[in-house]
Amino acid sequence: MVFDDIIIGSGLSALAVALGLPQRRRILVFAGPVDGRLVEYAHIRGVPCQYLGHGGLGNYWHGVIPSPAAVAANHADGRDFAALFAKFYPDAAKQLDPDAPALFVPRSPIRPRPHWNRLLKSRDMTIVPAMVSAVEFAGTGASVEADGRRYRAQRVWCCAGALGTARLLTHSFGESLSTGFVSDHVIVSLGLVLREAGTAPVVRRGADGYVMKPLRNGEIDALLVSRPARFGFARLDGGIERRAIFGLPTKSILGRLMKAPDPGLVSEALFNKFGLFPKAARYNLYAQLRVRDAYTLEPSAERITARPEVIYEATDRVREAAASLVPSLEPSRRPDLYIPGIHLHRTIDQGAAQAAGIGVADSPLRLSDASVLDEIGSAHHSFGMMVSSWNDARTAE
Ligand SMILES: Cc1cc2nc3c(=O)[nH]c(=O)nc-3n(C[C@H](O)[C@H](O)[C@H](O)COP(=O)(O)OP(=O)(O)OC[C@H]3O[C@@H](n4cnc5c(N)ncnc54)[C@H](O)[C@@H]3O)c2cc1C
Repeated sequence: MVFDDIIIGSGLSALAVALGLPQRRRILVFAGPVDGRLVEYAHIRGVPCQYLGHGGLGNYWHGVIPSPAAVAANHADGRDFAALFAKFYPDAAKQLDPDAPALFVPRSPIRPRPHWNRLLKSRDMTIVPAMVSAVEFAGTGASVEADGRRYRAQRVWCCAGALGTARLLTHSFGESLSTGFVSDHVIVSLGLVLREAGTAPVVRRGADGYVMKPLRNGEIDALLVSRPARFGFARLDGGIERRAIFGLPTKSILGRLMKAPDPGLVSEALFNKFGLFPKAARYNLYAQLRVRDAYTLEPSAERITARPEVIYEATDRVREAAASLVPSLEPSRRPDLYIPGIHLHRTIDQGAAQAAGIGVADSPLRLSDASVLDEIGSAHHSFGMMVSSWNDARTAE
């Protein structure tokens, strides 16, 4: 059977492409293996960096969406952002101003699978639970190989995730397409601050979730957020190691909270998920920052290895800047600790890909995930990535 569009992957970026493609297009989706497999960061056990299977990491993400104004490197136009956001969160869309810096924390993160099920009912679409092993140009279109069979289409959209797309493209076109690195956000605790003007979180709750204003960060190239510090967490570094669980999928967080209940941790969890009880005497101040080339990448094995010297150089810079910006800050004495943001990106060398005819205007091979994103700024990038993918698909002729 001939398809107009083949989408490789079934995570958030793939879903955005499918939502954007015109109704008349015949679409084939390769969702990844039928038995999903979670891959963890090599150096931090329990923290997922990839899910090979239907829905990808979209099955696990927390769903935090920054407004375009909160994203320094703005890859989402305000109007497009608002239009796509309203499809998922109609109530919050009425209140979220794209021009004001804000983080939206949803009650229910966007999970790809129910949206795929809806699309299957309303569109000419086939979803195959299989891995694509190679991709190539074919005449005026492109083709993919999966389970020993070849499938052709006018266009192929690579949405296999930062690691999956790097593996597929280097296997198909050569190692020179890889940057050799993976970039990511990391999250660090800067220390404790007193409740005073400018340090307490400003939270507005609604039907779909809550909206929080990030702290003004002056010249600091990081997203600063304060979270209520209660019980053991109100002591400097009191909960710093235990709070690493907030980097895990929600189910794992709940499991750990049930196993070893800790009032400080429960208080922060209630704030993180629902924006509850924002007023406290003291706050833990956290920074999320982008670390370019934080890990080395062996694309064929999808093995990533942390580069501590690169990570600490970036986090130390933010710690120093924060100490002069927030006079009441009692700085953390654990500068060695960080949590990976799980916002993997920049694994494909965009210049090399374009030289190979991939991802350029009119190319039948499109790159629509974070493998080619570069300056994502310090805020969560995934919804911005979806907006770009959605737009690419809507405007592709
Ligand atoms: C616990 C957690 C919390 C997070 N919280 C946030 C957050 O709050 N905000 C935010 O912005 N981001 C967050 N993220 C990051 C976010 O989940 C990812 O950025 C996003 O899901 C990536 O989507 P993707 O579709 O590009 O890639 P992926 O989710 O990695 O999907 C890749 C897809 O490609 C498929 N695939 C791979 N290789 C092949 C192949 N060869 N053939 C066929 N299919 C293939 C896989 O099966 C999968 O379906 C979080 C992540 C985690 C794990």
